[in-house]
Order: sequence, then structure tokens, then C-alpha cells
Amino acid sequence: MWPWGHAAVGYLLYTAYRRSRFDLRPHGVPVVALAAGTQLPDLIDKPLAWQFAVLPNGRSFGHSLLVAAALLVVLWAVAERLDAHESAVAFGIGYVGHLFGDALYPALAGDFYYVGFLGWPLIPAIEYNLATGGFLDHLFALDLGPLAVFELGLTVVAVGLWYRHGMPGLGVVVPGYDESIPEEQPKS
Ligand SMILES: [Zn+2]
Repeated sequence: MWPWGHAAVGYLLYTAYRRSRFDLRPHGVPVVALAAGTQLPDLIDKPLAWQFAVLPNGRSFGHSLLVAAALLVVLWAVAERLDAHESAVAFGIGYVGHLFGDALYPALAGDFYYVGFLGWPLIPAIEYNLATGGFLDHLFALDLGPLAVFELGLTVVAVGLWYRHGMPGLGVVVPGYDESIPEEQPKS
């Protein structure tokens, strides 16, 4: 899945969480934490595997559910101290959403060997077939057309929703931008 696909999946999941749990739209700093969570697995694994050869491949350490669980436990402890639970939840939804987003295509294709990265290092690192051009080629060799359209569609929906929500998170990174719109009240 491309970075924008991960961002879109994360935003849709987090919106569903906020709506179902609090009947509120996403808002403020947690949206930035969510965005970071949606990208972090690739920001960890791709450079360390492709540039520095520290990891076996671009879906290993940062893409493991075991590592994610440990990371989220530590993050939750930090969030407790900082009273930043909502940001921790948003980050966790983004991070775990990324892992399942990457697992989605091979799972749908029935290639369950390529879902094994979720269990690294208990499940040995996947050996991607470099002879056919490597990781990205393998990923998109599954079915480029419909998958690309699917991800673009998700992205359009997510961006539209984000815009309707008053572009939450922008006020955190752009000084002076006021993202406040009349906040919905929880249903009684
Ligand atoms: Zn990934």
C-alpha cells in the first residue's frame, strides 16, 4: 500500500472510532499522531533494510505485531504521564492499521506466506522474489490496476471527509490556522 493509502485507511478507521466511541469528529493533536502512526512502519523498515541493510527486508521489525504491541505498551505508559491518551489511541490505530493495510493485498490474493511479516521474528523474514524486480514489483504485480484505483478512491474519500471535518490536525502544524468548527455534542 502506498503512503497515501495508509494515511487514508488510518483516517477512516480513526473517524469510525471517534464516531462510534464519542460521536465526535477527529480533532487536533491526535490527528497528527495518527498520521505519524500510519507512516512509521515504513519509515523504520524501508531505510534500515534498503539503505543500511540492518533489517532483512522492508517489512520486518516495524511491521511485526509483536514489536507493535511492545511499542504501544511503552507509548501508553508515556501517554499516561503526559495525559495524552487520545493521541496514543490515534497513533496506535494508525500504526496497526498500516500493518493490516499491508497484509490486506496478499491475504485477498491468498498469498498467506506474504502475511507472515506480522509475526516477525517468530515467523522468519519473508524472502521476496528479487528476481522479478523486488519488493514493490512483487506487491504491485498482484494486480496493479484495481488496487491503484482502490487506494486512490480511499484517498479521495478520506481527504473529502478530512475537509468536511475542518481539516483537523492542520492547526497543529500550520501556525494561525483555526480548525475549530462547532464541536458536535455526544448523543445523550
Ligand atoms: Zn508498510
